[in-house]
Parts: sequence; structure tokens; C-alpha cells
Amino acid sequence: MRHGEWHKSSRIGWLRAAVLGANDGIVSTASLMIGVAAAGTGRGAVLIAGVAGLVAGAMSMAAGEYVSVSSQSDTETSDLARERKELETDVESEHRELAAIYEGRGLDPALATQVAQQLMAHDALGAHARDELGISEFLRARPIQAALASAVSFAVGAALPLGIGAVAPQSALVPGVAALSLLFLALLGGIAAKVGGAPIATGAMRVTFWGALAMALTAFVGSLFGVIA
Ligand SMILES: [Zn+2]
Repeated sequence: MRHGEWHKSSRIGWLRAAVLGANDGIVSTASLMIGVAAAGTGRGAVLIAGVAGLVAGAMSMAAGEYVSVSSQSDTETSDLARERKELETDVESEHRELAAIYEGRGLDPALATQVAQQLMAHDALGAHARDELGISEFLRARPIQAALASAVSFAVGAALPLGIGAVAPQSALVPGVAALSLLFLALLGGIAAKVGGAPIATGAMRVTFWGALAMALTAFVGSLFGVIA
């Protein structure tokens, strides 16, 4: 893979995570607001529900991401510690192991041994981490960054239906929030598909369908509460 392509693929990873986070923000907050509005409450209650949904959703996304990436980071750290120990106690077989990896990648045995020797002389742990464990400095798990990115992308997504709810006339609150949120979802779905190299229309339709279903269900449940209250 050429150097430029590598950077592109790591950017794609982040972009996809951000788009998915924003999708969650739009779907959950718009549905929440529509459900509360369908229960016959005023704009104040709808906006309070929306803000509460934004904060709760962003925090739960951050917590979930932090926990999952932290456990990945824990695994990496313990793998590296074990590797460091093996290099201290049995450097000969570690050398053979690395040479075998390079042979498996197509180097002839003499060259593989030489490459392993030089790379281990330069940075033994780095060479084993990268070529044996698949851990490179660039790809190290970063729980805080991942949690922050996840919370911010959710909050940005959630801010869209909230903004619409704040300016739409009371009579058009539900259709306004629903229609514009679905439009944003279709846009994001199309972007995620394009970035991932998938058909744009399929990507847009898929997320719009599930978004519409979520909003319809919460509107139904909200209207039930409206009837009961
Ligand atoms: Zn090793």
C-alpha cells in the first residue's frame, strides 16, 4: 500500500466512525423529540427532552467507546509486556520467529535472517510489535480520543433536530423535525457509503429507512401517552 493510501485508509476509519456517531445522534434525538411532541406537549418540553437526549446519548457513546477501546489498549499493553519479556529471556528464538515471518512474506531465508537481525538491532520491540503483533504506534488504541470523537459526533448529529425544533413553528414541529432529520440522515448515509466505496443510494436509503421507522414508532408510543394523559 502506498504511503498516501495508508493515510487515506486511516482517515476513512475516523470519518466512518464520525458519520455513524452523527447518525445515532440524529435518529435518537429526533425520535425522542417526536415522541414527546406526539404526546401533546409544548415546544419547551420537546426541547428539554432533546437536550437531555443529546447529553445522555453523547455521554453513553463516550462511555461505551472508552470502555471498549480501553480494553483493546489493555490487551495491546499486556501483549507488548509479554513480548518485551520474551526478548529479554529468549532473544534467539525471537530472532528466528521474526525471520520466519519475513520468510512467510516472501523473503528468501538468508535475507529474512539479515533483515530480522538489523531491525532487531535497531528496535527489537518495535519490530516484533509491528510485524508479529500488528501493533504500530499510529494504530495504538487511544481511549480518550475515541471517546471524545464519539461524543462530539453524536452531539453534532443531535444538534440538527434540536436546532430545527427550536425554530420550526409549533404546528410544523413534528413534520419539520422528521423531514429535515431524514434528509440529514440520507446525506450522511450517502457520504458514509461513498467513503466506504459502496453504492450511495443504498447507503442513503438504508439509514433513512431505519431512521423513519424509529421516528414512527416513538411518535406512535408518544401519541398513546397523549391519549392516556
Ligand atoms: Zn516475538
